[in-house]
Amino acid sequence: MPRTRSHTLPAPVRSSPPTALDIGKVENDHVVFENWRGAADLPQQDPPAFTPPDQRTGFAIMGLGRLALGEILPAFAETLHSKPTALISGHPDKARAVAKQYGIPDHAIYDYSSIRRIADNPEIDAVYIVTPNGLHPEHLAAVVATGKPVLCEKPMSNTLEDAILMDTLCREAGVKLMIAYRCQYEKYNRAVIDLTQGGQLGKPRLIEATNTQMQGPADQWRMKPGMAGGGSLPDIGLYCLNGARNVIGEDPEEVFAWTFSPTGDSRYTDIDETTAFMLRFPSGAIANCATSYGAHESKDMRVRLENGWISLENAFAYQGQRLFVARRDGDHESVSEWRIDAGNQFALEIDHFADCIRNNREPRTPGSEGIRDQILMTALYESARTGRPVRTDTALRARGLTPKTVS
Ligand code: NDP
Repeated sequence: MPRTRSHTLPAPVRSSPPTALDIGKVENDHVVFENWRGAADLPQQDPPAFTPPDQRTGFAIMGLGRLALGEILPAFAETLHSKPTALISGHPDKARAVAKQYGIPDHAIYDYSSIRRIADNPEIDAVYIVTPNGLHPEHLAAVVATGKPVLCEKPMSNTLEDAILMDTLCREAGVKLMIAYRCQYEKYNRAVIDLTQGGQLGKPRLIEATNTQMQGPADQWRMKPGMAGGGSLPDIGLYCLNGARNVIGEDPEEVFAWTFSPTGDSRYTDIDETTAFMLRFPSGAIANCATSYGAHESKDMRVRLENGWISLENAFAYQGQRLFVARRDGDHESVSEWRIDAGNQFALEIDHFADCIRNNREPRTPGSEGIRDQILMTALYESARTGRPVRTDTALRARGLTPKTVS
């Protein structure tokens, strides 16, 4: 017979019935709570309103490289409305290992020659193209033939002609297209856009944006012009270009660039190592940008306005953003740091596209956004080649795009 021990039970507390503040309430199938914090502190966010797993937008990830495995697939754990449901890869051993980690069944692994078969998989609602730049056009064309919406990594393509072709293909097939400009979904970058365009600090006059990193060995697609479309400019300088345009809210009407590549370094025989460029906007604002594969990593942006400045450290990094805002405060200058609950920018970007698919909305960064940047990068390379400023408003109009201006 097992021996039983007698326990002394804790004395019952003098319970009080829960209040509405304690238990919250259900609104539109989601639980929400009233703010329990004092007015001096930020209110706690409501619990996230997830889409149930079986109703989430399913993504096939194409190209299992560093970005897909290091950032995109892990970010699905932080999405609210999306899930990875398939993989497209040239390497079945790698694809099987990744599929196992993410609970993706073997029948949802495809290779580049069997992309057309994704048309028959109802679990795939969209395809995220994460292959080298030069392959984006042919990979996009293969997906468009299946009718599935496309989220395509930046830069959209290597050439303006390819970007236009990709956009046209999608339009003619009625396929939704978004270019993955993740910084436009990142909350610190959005705060800089809102603060600049909100007018509280007056008109923006100057913007500085830098994106540099040290590049490694030659034997990688980023060093091959056919695959990369250029050097640091299309790869990381693009963040400065796209960031400056979106912070100012305009397209530049004139651009100027200098490129530099070290002599004797075979990596930079055919692509640019360093590019410094200026953008002149219709409102008079001027952006000074720099990008390089030969300078220690830095990814910062600063906006100088009539009544203050805004500085975003690590503006174009995956994380680590720090936002400072300076302005006069009575009889002294004040520099404040903004802390924002920013979340995962890839998750926000992916969920944005899921929302666009579900609700048939135009993405914030459609194909035309990629085309605009391609027009501007073409002009920047022309300027570097000729040593002269290049007008870009006419080039935009020639491609049927009205230059964006602030009224
Ligand atoms: P990687 O070199 O790390 O991976 C690319 C993957 O593409 C490969 O692993 C391979 O996957 C597939 N691939 C298919 N054909 C080729 C080929 N001929 N040569 C090389 N790879 C091939 O590149 P990244 O992941 O860094 O970049 C991929 C894309 O994402 C690019 O367009 C890049 O500009 C963009 N990017 C965007 C970033 C952002 O922050 N938004 C950051 C980094 C990159 P598999 O074996 O599965 O076929």
